[in-house]
Amino acid sequence: MQKPIYYLALFLSCLSCLAQTKTATTGLDPTAQLLKQLANAPAPSGYEEAVRAIMVSKMKPYAASIQFDGLGSVIAKMGTTGPRIMIDAHMDELGGMVRRITPQGFLTMQMLGGWLNQALVDQRWVILGSKGPVLAVTGIRDIHVIPLAERNKVYPRDSLYLDIGAKSVAEAAAMGVEPGDPIVPDSPFAVMNGTDNYLGKAWDDRVGCAILIEAMQRLAGSHLPNQLFFVASTQEEIGMRGAHTASAVVNPDIGIALEAGVTGDVFSGHPEESQIKLGAGPGYFLYDASDLPNRKLVQFFRQTATAKNIPLQYDLVTGYGDDASAMQSSGRGAPSINLVVPVRYTHAHNGIMNRRDFDQMVDLLVSVLQHLDEQEVKSLRDFSPAQ
Ligand SMILES: [Zn+2]
Repeated sequence: MQKPIYYLALFLSCLSCLAQTKTATTGLDPTAQLLKQLANAPAPSGYEEAVRAIMVSKMKPYAASIQFDGLGSVIAKMGTTGPRIMIDAHMDELGGMVRRITPQGFLTMQMLGGWLNQALVDQRWVILGSKGPVLAVTGIRDIHVIPLAERNKVYPRDSLYLDIGAKSVAEAAAMGVEPGDPIVPDSPFAVMNGTDNYLGKAWDDRVGCAILIEAMQRLAGSHLPNQLFFVASTQEEIGMRGAHTASAVVNPDIGIALEAGVTGDVFSGHPEESQIKLGAGPGYFLYDASDLPNRKLVQFFRQTATAKNIPLQYDLVTGYGDDASAMQSSGRGAPSINLVVPVRYTHAHNGIMNRRDFDQMVDLLVSVLQHLDEQEVKSLRDFSPAQ
């Protein structure tokens, strides 16, 4: 008769699991609370309402004004005179929308943003239906029936179905689901086992959204030598659309994008893919597919990081685009840079960011913004050959 003991042990271990899950997000400081709130908010491209509401309420106490562009980007201003600095992070996350409801009550999905096929199966999702959130799962074909030859193949995207437990179109409709409804990963925030690493969805780019808010908070009340436009943009994951329209409103002299970086510290043997490491400090891009940083602006960030004793990583990622491209090509052109907080497993349900990297990025950005005065910006925008 061992089983009762086994069951008791199992029961107790389940209880301790639950307790751990609970303590993993209790006792968070305000910054961790903010990161949790932003990561958990459901907002795929074009459906940024949930994050926009958080951004506006958190920015309002520090902003002289808040306006919106025609695509829903939030533009919060601090400072009254001097060069126009645009600091951008995007609100939207990887997700999808309902394409079609099958006669059996399954749903097909239109993906929004760059998903790998292997990230799509056997996952929990939330559909933002008209009657509230609807739990869904992308089913997986059972190993007991799948032909041997297909067992190690990636599940094709066009065979993917969301299962919401409905048996018919009418049942799905009764749950408040219809074509066009937005879908996000179901993947709640957690602190990882007592470390300073945070697990969650959408660090790309809620990490940037949180930096916007923390930087505004830190700069509140100080005299600014510039006009700062903190922009929470829309629809980045489907082509940097909000940053284009927001740049037209701001007309920046300098553009700073805040993003999630791609770590190269897990899958070894690919040093040309990416270099930055989780927990080794904030970073910036020397190259990506959409933009090149301004060389003098890179130097300015490097010097500031050295002076503040902040480790600064660099990276070059070919399969990556960001909002700095929209800022740099706006108007007559603006020197720009893409800053990144390292994130493991971007564009997936479960990403990991490091809190110290985040804090150091806020320190670095705040210091740079305090020193980007008229003279500095003039020199950054000066392309006349050295005498
Ligand atoms: Zn991003």
